[in-house]
Amino acid sequence: MIRIKVNRDLCEGNAACQRTAPEMFHVDEQDVMHLLVEHPSEAQMEKAKAAVRRCPKRALSLVDEP
Ligand code: SF4
Repeated sequence: MIRIKVNRDLCEGNAACQRTAPEMFHVDEQDVMHLLVEHPSEAQMEKAKAAVRRCPKRALSLVDEP
């Protein structure tokens, strides 16, 4: 099962992920990013991949877990 993984040491809360996929990522007033979807569905996968690509800090990754 694919999971969206966040490296909190790298994330700076710039919300590029939220702009790409607001249904999956939310950045709050304290610039803390909250993952709204941990396991993207098939239909959400392209957007999840785009968010991973567009994170300027490379804080996001998709991991395949059993
Ligand atoms: S785009 Fe990357 S650095 Fe920016 S809030 Fe999202 S995960 Fe964090």
